[in-house]
Amino acid sequence: MRASWVEGALILTGAIVGWYATRRWRIGTTPTPSRLPSSDYLQGLNYLVNEQPDRAVEAFLRAVAVDRDTVETQFALGALFRRRGETDRAIRMHQNLMTRTELDPVHREQATYALAQDYLRAGLYDRAEKLLLSLSEAGTYRISALRDLCRVYEVEHDWEKAIEVHRVLAKVGNPAQPLAIAHYWCELAAMAMADADYPTARRHLAAARAEQRRFPRGALLRADLAVALGEPELALPLLKRVGLHHPALAGEVLPRLVKALKAAGREAELAATLKEMAGEGREVADALAYAAIVADTLASPGLLDLARDYVRREPTVTELVQALLPAGTQMDDEVLGRLCKALRRQALRSPRFQCVECGFSSTGHFWQCPGCKSWDSLRPLSPTELLAPLANGRPRSPRTPAA
Ligand SMILES: [Zn+2]
Repeated sequence: MRASWVEGALILTGAIVGWYATRRWRIGTTPTPSRLPSSDYLQGLNYLVNEQPDRAVEAFLRAVAVDRDTVETQFALGALFRRRGETDRAIRMHQNLMTRTELDPVHREQATYALAQDYLRAGLYDRAEKLLLSLSEAGTYRISALRDLCRVYEVEHDWEKAIEVHRVLAKVGNPAQPLAIAHYWCELAAMAMADADYPTARRHLAAARAEQRRFPRGALLRADLAVALGEPELALPLLKRVGLHHPALAGEVLPRLVKALKAAGREAELAATLKEMAGEGREVADALAYAAIVADTLASPGLLDLARDYVRREPTVTELVQALLPAGTQMDDEVLGRLCKALRRQALRSPRFQCVECGFSSTGHFWQCPGCKSWDSLRPLSPTELLAPLANGRPRSPRTPAA
């Protein structure tokens, strides 16, 4: 709190020095008494120094004239209010600037963008959208406005408009965003599937594939679509491929694999399928075993075997077993079951996923990080990270609040 007002004081000092220097220069050339800041403006600065922001805002709003010397200070203060989360004050200051007929076009555009930022910060997305659209055609803030519009449409789940905006951004020289666009198509496909509109879902998934090849989310949804359309055999190779190439998505793959095999009447093949996949590498085997433990789907012999191998070779788990179980305890199915239950409990009570971009942690998987809005950036925590508190006997505290 105090640090922000130090920032405010710096802005204020800058404003006063700037005004004084300008005035001195003007006095030395062509004196213009009308350039003196109004008493309301000076009173506003005084309130600011005395940490009375509401009175300061009122005084600034009353100030009759807005000129080059005072407008920059008002922008700086508006931005400061916004950063502090005082969006009401920021909105009032920027709205007031926009009503000023004497404001030049450059500052009017700046005020429009600043007000849009205030609305975004306040969660008033419809108002922000209106202003951003007005800035997105041309001008200094065009690119920034288009980027912010993407954010608005993502929040509002208006995926088609988000796709359009990305296309415009690419046309004006911004890097193409095939990953984001592929996810938008997947969001649309998932919505169509929820409405049992399978032809539309198929179209959207084809669009996602055209945008981004080797796209695991698209493959998972295509598998879902195949099962929904009574063609589970088509889902199996898709799911195997995702499981092998993207072990971090084992939690998404495993339940779908069980469902697809069941739908195909090939449940008995689960153990062999998993063994074949696990044979491709330790990372895949560990990810599948860990996903099975967390999903509590160990009833199948194939999954129990995977879990047994996993428990034997995962050092954190081995240490835990040695610490918790009496010496010489045999790792039979009953002990293994109890151990997996304890692991599952621990996994479910802790944030299991973390964003590699911003560190946001959550108990569930998100395709888009709720913290920094990056796509495909959440990764499951390694068992070592997750089990550390069990081994140390103290609860784990995530770096960021859990979702
Ligand atoms: Zn993030």
